[in-house]
Amino acid sequence: MNDNPAFGAGLQPFMGIPSFMRLPVSRELKNVDVAILGVPFDSGTSYRTGTRFGPRKIRELSLLIWGHNSTLNVTPLKKLNVVDYGDVSVIPTSIEHTMTVITKTASEIITSGTTLITLGGDHSIALPLLRAHAKKHGPVSLVHIDAHIDTWESEFEAVPYSHGTPFRYALQEGLIRTGEYVQIGIRGPLSGENDYADAAALGARTITIHEVMEKGVPAILKEVHERMKGPTYVTVDIDSADPAFAPGTGTPEVGGLTSYQLLQLVRGLHGLNLVGFDLVEVSPPYDHGDITAILASNIVFEYLSLLAIKNG
Ligand code: MN
Ligand code: MN
Repeated sequence: MNDNPAFGAGLQPFMGIPSFMRLPVSRELKNVDVAILGVPFDSGTSYRTGTRFGPRKIRELSLLIWGHNSTLNVTPLKKLNVVDYGDVSVIPTSIEHTMTVITKTASEIITSGTTLITLGGDHSIALPLLRAHAKKHGPVSLVHIDAHIDTWESEFEAVPYSHGTPFRYALQEGLIRTGEYVQIGIRGPLSGENDYADAAALGARTITIHEVMEKGVPAILKEVHERMKGPTYVTVDIDSADPAFAPGTGTPEVGGLTSYQLLQLVRGLHGLNLVGFDLVEVSPPYDHGDITAILASNIVFEYLSLLAIKNG
């Protein structure tokens, strides 16, 4: 598998072609455990854009990751056959067309038995990804780490989809198992006093940042493990981290998770029946010193490590 010419062993991080962790770039899925897929799409964004540059930047900074996870004591690329599948052919001017293509591409990957890890892109891409996963697994348990509830009604009557609405539609479309949707790290000014109640009425368990800080990450993880019974999909919005740790994002909210707490949350999903993952909302034009992209690539590595342990 290492005869892929772009990826010679022993290259320094600043050398060569930046596929994710210098993995082979391939669309051959035979015997492939995990595929990394980019969705460079940010037309679902309400405020500042730039997440279309996220996948490429995350790949570039992933080259800083040495292969062994010292906390989980696993070397994922030794346990798993992983490829970088490249990017979805998005249409920047059409969210609906792009959503169709995302579902189609994701379905092609996961129906073959390969687990999908997706790099966004804005959070609107989670809906077509969930459609693909629910088509394969039935409704999924959902762990959603974010500053925002993303179960809002569209602000634009003519276009229902944006990065603020994916989980409203996922719930309404029956893509999520009843009682098995947690959103963690929620904070910031809302559109009104009923936003959390609306999310709860739709079926979300909203865990605010206040609750995380009061109870601590281990207690939050305990509840997650108690709730999640089915095939579990994990979606991480990088704005769940405080802007001090993740400034490169479209809609930053102060008072968020530290990068350590975010790693701890993802790492603590160990043991769940993990079937899919996305990391969204990295906007390199607003980043400083690439710190947001470095955090993002490490979060992906953490999830990859969990899959390696699961595959045993
Ligand atoms: Mn979000
Ligand atoms: Mn968010």
